[in-house]
Amino acid sequence: AKEAGRARMTCYETAMDAHREERNALELDLRRAIEMEELVVVYQPLVDASSCEMTGVEALVRWNRPGHGPISPETFIPVAETSGLIEALGLFVLRKACEAARQWPDLRVAVNVSPGQFRNPAFADYVRNVLNSTEIEAGRVTLEITEGYIIQNPERTRQSIERLKALGVKVALDDFGSGFSSIGYLRQFGFDRIKIDRSLTMNVLEDGRAREMLRATVALARSLDIPVTAEGIEIEEQGRALQNFGCDELQGYFYGKPMPEAEISKRLAVQNAA
Ligand code: C2E
Ligand code: CA
Ligand code: CA
Ligand code: CA
Repeated sequence: AKEAGRARMTCYETAMDAHREERNALELDLRRAIEMEELVVVYQPLVDASSCEMTGVEALVRWNRPGHGPISPETFIPVAETSGLIEALGLFVLRKACEAARQWPDLRVAVNVSPGQFRNPAFADYVRNVLNSTEIEAGRVTLEITEGYIIQNPERTRQSIERLKALGVKVALDDFGSGFSSIGYLRQFGFDRIKIDRSLTMNVLEDGRAREMLRATVALARSLDIPVTAEGIEIEEQGRALQNFGCDELQGYFYGKPMPEAEISKRLAVQNAA
């Protein structure tokens, strides 16, 4: 039995080593990808709920890892977070998105911000530099923050949000409904918009409980004058239901998948010609 125990232990340690090696290799590749600007930014349409016109885009990072193919940001963002790479990565995406947005003067541009960036007191200075060098109006830029960090550090969050809002940029609460926070609590932070997580919106048609939660959530946000975006809309009826609940903005594959900059420009040309 002792022998078997030792064998199990060794096997476990081997698996740990393999995992650690893969993680290190990933980190090394990611570091190089950021330095060599191998990361790509794609843009997903944000549409007005009543007209279905594109009024903005969300910037989403993509990485085609050499020898491995495309890797999801859900995999490499956490690696960037724990290896000190997130600031460079985040800044790259912000700069690309603001540069791209210069061609789309009528669109808002939303950019995701990781806790690792947000936590840094100098983050607002980085944002100001990007705004200055790209000459984009601050009011067109929305920074999306997830609720996880906010709950851990309410006071620092408040300060960071204040600094960002002083620059004129908008701040949105992302992935709302995926955790435990309430809008009432979050109101104190001065969010300009709430984005309802796909885990809630995907069930709006089938699940009565999800539907009632959505209805109540959107109603509460509206009573506080906070506009609401519903994300993850894959079929028309979901979008219609959420519009009826009071969402003013919709996002999801039904309205457009994340796409290269040039595709957004094409869509915009068609839209403006109509
Ligand atoms: P998120 O910010 O909640 O972004 C929405 C995600 O849902 C995107 O996945 C988008 O492609 C996907 N999505 C949009 N509409 C639909 C739909 O109708 N159905 C389904 N099934 N999915 C939909 P993506 O691009 O893989 O990004 C995943 C997450 O990675 C993002 O979630 C965000 O948290 C993070 N992320 C992506 N880009 C960045 C970035 O530049 N910086 C940071 N910090 N995080 C990023
Ligand atoms: Ca987002
Ligand atoms: Ca989201
Ligand atoms: Ca999400």
